[in-house]
Amino acid sequence: SARTKTADISREKSAQLFEKAKQYFPGGVNSPVRAFKSVYGTPLFIERGDKAHIWDADENEFIDFCCSWGPLILGHNNDQIREAVTAQLSKGLSFGAPTALENELAELIISNNRFIEKIRFVSSGTEAVMSAIRLARGYTKRDKIVKFEGCYHGHSDSLLVKAGSGLVTFGETSSAGVPKAFADETIVIALNDKEALTAVFDQFKDQIAAVIIEGVPANNGLLLQTKEYIHYLREITTQNGALLIFDEVITGFRLGFEGAAAYYDVQPDIITYGKIIGGGMPVGAYGASKELMSCISPDGSVYQAGTLSGNPVAMAAGIATCKVLTQPDFYKNLNAKTELFVSEIRNYIEEKNYEVKIFTIASIFWFAFTDQEAILKASEIDPNSMELYKLMHRELLNRGIYFGPSGYEVGFISHAHTNEDLITAKQHIFAALDLVFG
Ligand code: PLP
Repeated sequence: SARTKTADISREKSAQLFEKAKQYFPGGVNSPVRAFKSVYGTPLFIERGDKAHIWDADENEFIDFCCSWGPLILGHNNDQIREAVTAQLSKGLSFGAPTALENELAELIISNNRFIEKIRFVSSGTEAVMSAIRLARGYTKRDKIVKFEGCYHGHSDSLLVKAGSGLVTFGETSSAGVPKAFADETIVIALNDKEALTAVFDQFKDQIAAVIIEGVPANNGLLLQTKEYIHYLREITTQNGALLIFDEVITGFRLGFEGAAAYYDVQPDIITYGKIIGGGMPVGAYGASKELMSCISPDGSVYQAGTLSGNPVAMAAGIATCKVLTQPDFYKNLNAKTELFVSEIRNYIEEKNYEVKIFTIASIFWFAFTDQEAILKASEIDPNSMELYKLMHRELLNRGIYFGPSGYEVGFISHAHTNEDLITAKQHIFAALDLVFG
């Protein structure tokens, strides 16, 4: 049953909009998690955002920790991004021909990133990963890919695959409409399990095109891997002539400008980007060495294209974002702010002896209702604990704190979150935890 301390906020206008939306869209939404199926109530329809704050259709104000699922590392309505986008608008929205803006964003990225030599812009993270997989298969002339249980890489066919039972199994499709033949080419293993990784290469020697892992798995809780494991992953892929793909759609430009590759000090063969790279506009990208990228059309035989790829307005937003991110101490300050926020919450939890943990890396955090000291694999998350997240989520919304509508999703802190925002949020988080455990 739903315990609440505070009265539920008014959702009248959002509820009306949702009723209408249900007539137009499956489940009333254009991306499933937005439907609030895993938390109380119906979705809030957002009207506007400014800095770390958002307002819904009923004029409720929230401090936002979802940040559009990661892209908004500079918060909402950032001055530099808005000005850059506005300036581009009057020049044209799309040409389907090269623009200098693409060069500018590529140069900003490549000259500040030791891990890629060439890049290709696409329009979403899904597209970036899908293309990276094709590149890996085209380059190695092998078909199988290995992914990890609990890692999300967008909704392309080869990657909508979940683990079967057993140490090493062919995947099972995790969506209707994905042919079994596709899932047969995807092998799914548990994270942080050297034995499974070794077994996979023993069993499928010379058949594996690539292993793909999220820079830091952050789509099914925050599953922080050990450095040792990531280095082993690099070693075993190299030894077997398989490529290592880092999906940095979340971690790219988040863990630091050079993302998880720099954090782990590992050179992946292909890196995919999304979210932050477009500053809130639809952009994805994949990058690799010159040699690998020469396989992509029109230089090579791996086909990949896009009508809106490198879109000038989106490039302008990406350039403005990257200019801020490359300023000295940007990440140092953002990460320090997050560390303080998280450590104060952690202290409170410990003081009260509540059975919840807050895991963190850089400016990402995740609440796990568990007594375990660490959670490194998807199977270590107790699905029943999500009931507690639901309670917390409802209480936080009532108190003006917006978290993602699922306990499996991580939270993000942006450059725009002020100390005052974080102090306010912390007090409400304490109260929400008191309610959950009260
Ligand atoms: N890869 C990762 C690691 C992601 O987190 C996501 C989206 O959340 C994707 C790929 C897919 O990106 P998009 O939603 O832009 O298609």
